[in-house]
Amino acid sequence: CAFYSSVLSGVQERTLVALKPDGVQRRLVGDVIKRFEQRGFKLVGMKLLQASEVILAEHYHDLRRKPFYSSLIRYMASGPVVVMVWEGHNVVRSSRLMVGDTDSAQAKPGTVRGDFSVHISRNVIHASDSVEVAEREIGLWFHVSELVSWDNADQSNLYQV
Ligand code: UDP
Ligand code: MG
Repeated sequence: CAFYSSVLSGVQERTLVALKPDGVQRRLVGDVIKRFEQRGFKLVGMKLLQASEVILAEHYHDLRRKPFYSSLIRYMASGPVVVMVWEGHNVVRSSRLMVGDTDSAQAKPGTVRGDFSVHISRNVIHASDSVEVAEREIGLWFHVSELVSWDNADQSNLYQV
């Protein structure tokens, strides 16, 4: 059946991952891409851009009443970000685990935040926190024409096909 074959081949989930301005400044783009590639996820969209306050306000809409909101927007607009869409089995949850705790001081070694950051206000990376949020964020940052579906040559090494 189509549902189980899509589960087995791992094409059912996508998430938005973004290197924040501090991550770009600190030359961490390559390391982060490497981690997601070697885990087995598939890159289906990527671009570097200067985020506008409009897109950031939409992206962080749920946090608009938090005391750190205005400094968060200033930080996120302080330089270019690299936004990516990664695809694969359970990629939303797995990405959150790879990214680590929001508070860098609590993030475990081996996670992006735990390896490269010390403070919650400069925590290097973003990853969507649920499948629904991922869909909303991908739609916010990418036009459908910027997302590319492509076949993994080594699909059977990553999934039971
Ligand atoms: N943030 C902050 N101070 C806080 C909480 C959050 O500066 O006390 C920033 C931080 O950059 C974080 C972002 O706001 O990554 C979004 O917060 P959220 O709770 O969604 O954390 P995330 O999903 O990024 O782990
Ligand atoms: Mg969040």
